[in-house]
Amino acid sequence: MKQSHSNELQRAIKIIRMLRGATKGMPETANSLIIDRYGKDPYLILISCILSLRTKDTTSYPASTRLFAKARSPKGMLKLSPKTIESLIYPTGFYRTKALNILKISQDLLDRFDGMVPKSEKDLLSLHGVGIKTANLVRGEAFDIPAICVDTHVHKISNRLGLVKTDTPEQTEKALKELLPKQYWTEFGRLLVMWGQNICVPISPFCSKCAIADLCPRVGVKRSR
Ligand code: SF4
Repeated sequence: MKQSHSNELQRAIKIIRMLRGATKGMPETANSLIIDRYGKDPYLILISCILSLRTKDTTSYPASTRLFAKARSPKGMLKLSPKTIESLIYPTGFYRTKALNILKISQDLLDRFDGMVPKSEKDLLSLHGVGIKTANLVRGEAFDIPAICVDTHVHKISNRLGLVKTDTPEQTEKALKELLPKQYWTEFGRLLVMWGQNICVPISPFCSKCAIADLCPRVGVKRSR
């Protein structure tokens, strides 16, 4: 059992090393673009993550920049009406709900956290509309606290790679945390999101041009290119 954990760990580390090189030059994720543009601002990382839920990066990133051109703080955000926020973030998925959530979060941050984004998982999860994926992204990217942000890409690819055998993103997060040392958590999530957006796409992945194909058992892949 111990031996197989160590073999899997070695394979996972090899995958991470190869992905570091193979993702160079790929389009950056919306989250990385936000950090490049505004720095590691926890509030902007949080709000842009809310906008990215159920929405492609190519839609959520421009929506974030339109919104942040009008408001970049909880106080500033509360000066905008729900309708104005809706029109700025359209066409992100569930834009009406997101507009209300953004206002509720902003009010909550002012009421309970002096206008600052909290660092703890418990406090982040207490904010309206913030789930574990968003909490992990904020902890990892804004505060450099080791956290694995498991979105659909990370969940799917971890299973295809055979690193985990799980049914839900929550189970995947738990299994990856058991497998990987903390130093890899945030980076692993980031690399797999890029890989999932460009090579290991949800339907019919590009296995023929995959840099980690030799390390991948392609679990559950029925159709590939
Ligand atoms: S070989 Fe195919 S299934 Fe495996 S990581 Fe690469 S693209 Fe994904």
